[in-house]
Amino acid sequence: MTEISSSASVPSLADSSSLAARMLELIAGGQATSRTELAERLGTAASTISLTVQRLVAQGLVAEEGTHASTGGRPRKVLRLGGSDGYAVAADLGGSHARIGIVVSGGSLSDVSTVPFSMADGPETGLDRLATILGDLAERRGSGTLAGVGVSLPGPVDISSGSVLLPSRMPGWTGFPVRTWLEDRFGLPVAVDNDANLMALGEHSVRPAGARQSITVKAGTGIGVGIIADGHVYRGATGCAGDITHVRIDTAGDTPCSCGNTGCLETVASGAALVRIFRERGVPVTSTLDVIRLATDADPEATRTVRRAGHYLGEVLSANVNFFNPDAVYLGGILSTLEPFVAAVRSQLYEGCHPLATEHLLIERVRLGADAGLVGAGLLALQRAFMTALDSRSIPHPHPSPSLAASPSPSRVPRNHVHR
Ligand SMILES: [Zn+2]
Repeated sequence: MTEISSSASVPSLADSSSLAARMLELIAGGQATSRTELAERLGTAASTISLTVQRLVAQGLVAEEGTHASTGGRPRKVLRLGGSDGYAVAADLGGSHARIGIVVSGGSLSDVSTVPFSMADGPETGLDRLATILGDLAERRGSGTLAGVGVSLPGPVDISSGSVLLPSRMPGWTGFPVRTWLEDRFGLPVAVDNDANLMALGEHSVRPAGARQSITVKAGTGIGVGIIADGHVYRGATGCAGDITHVRIDTAGDTPCSCGNTGCLETVASGAALVRIFRERGVPVTSTLDVIRLATDADPEATRTVRRAGHYLGEVLSANVNFFNPDAVYLGGILSTLEPFVAAVRSQLYEGCHPLATEHLLIERVRLGADAGLVGAGLLALQRAFMTALDSRSIPHPHPSPSLAASPSPSRVPRNHVHR
C-alpha cells in the first residue's frame, strides 16, 4: 500500500506509480470518479492525489471532464480513463457455451451474446474459435479502440502466468498458458481469471463503494467463491482462496467428489450433486438446467432438494462469514436463481453466524445476474491494459526534481499488481 513519507514534499517515483496504479484500478472499476473519491478510498492526501491525477492526465491515461452536480455541493470534475473510447472484449466460458460482450471503462456492458464453445475440444481448438468470434465482435463495433481481452474460466487459474491449474471440469486444459496464447493472437493485454473471482469483481463494481468486503458465491455445476477484501479481489497465497466447494461437510459422508476426495460440499450442494441425487431417484435429468426446470415448476421433491442444498451451502458460508466478517454476501450462479435455494442460504447464515457478523450483513442475489462474470472479465482486461500502458510510459513530473529525474525504473508496477 502506498505510504507517503512525511519528510518528502513529493512522493517517490515508485510510490507514485503504485498510487497511480491503484487510482487507475478504482477509476476503471467505477469505484471512484473524482479526486475527492480517490482521496477517500485510498486514504491519501488530496494534494498527493491531485499531483498524481495531473501526471496521469499528462500521460493521456486519465481524462478529467464535466462536473458532478448531483450532490448540490461544489461542482467536481469527473475522472475517466483516458482514451475513453477504449474498450475490452470479454468472454465467460462454460462447458458447452460462452457468453461474450463488450465492456467499457466503468463497467458498462453491451453486445452480449451466447455462442457455442466446447471445453472438451481442448484449449487450442477452443481458443482459436473464441479468438475469431471476439475479433469479429470488435470489428462489428467499428468505433473506439480495442484495449484488451478478458476471459473467465470455470477452473483455477495461476494468476501470475495466466495458465490453467488442475481443473476438474476442463479436461486437457491443465497447464495451458491461456493468457500468453491470447496475447500472442491479439497483440494486446489479456486478463484471465476464474469465474468466481471475476463474478465478484463485476458485482463489486456496481455496488456502493462502502461495501469493501464481500463474498460472492457462484453456485452452478460447482461452487466457487470470489472474495473482495478492502476493495480488491483476494486470491490467497496460491490462488485458491474461496475454494469452498471442497470443504468437507459431515452430511456428505463418503460421497466421492470431482477432486478425488470424499465428503466435499460440492457432493451435496452443487448443481452436479443435484443432478446425481435426482438420477439416483430415477428422475431422468442430465444437467443442472433440468434440475432448475423441475424446481421452477414447483415440483415439491425438487424444491425440497434445492432447499437442502442451500442449507448445506449456508452452513459452510456461515463459518466463512464469521471468520471474514464481510459487508455483503452476493449469491450468483444458476442455483441462485431459485428462491428456495437463496432463502435457505440466508436463513442458515442468520442461524449459523454470530449476531455481530450478520447485524448489517447484506445477503442478496448478484445484481448483474448472468453478466457479472463477463463484466468482471472486461474490467480486469481494462485494468491490465491501463497498467501495461502505465508501465510502458515514463511519467513526466510537473516540477521535476533531481532525485525523480535520476530514478531509472523501467518496470515500476509489479506485474501481479494488476491482478490484486
Ligand atoms: Zn472435492
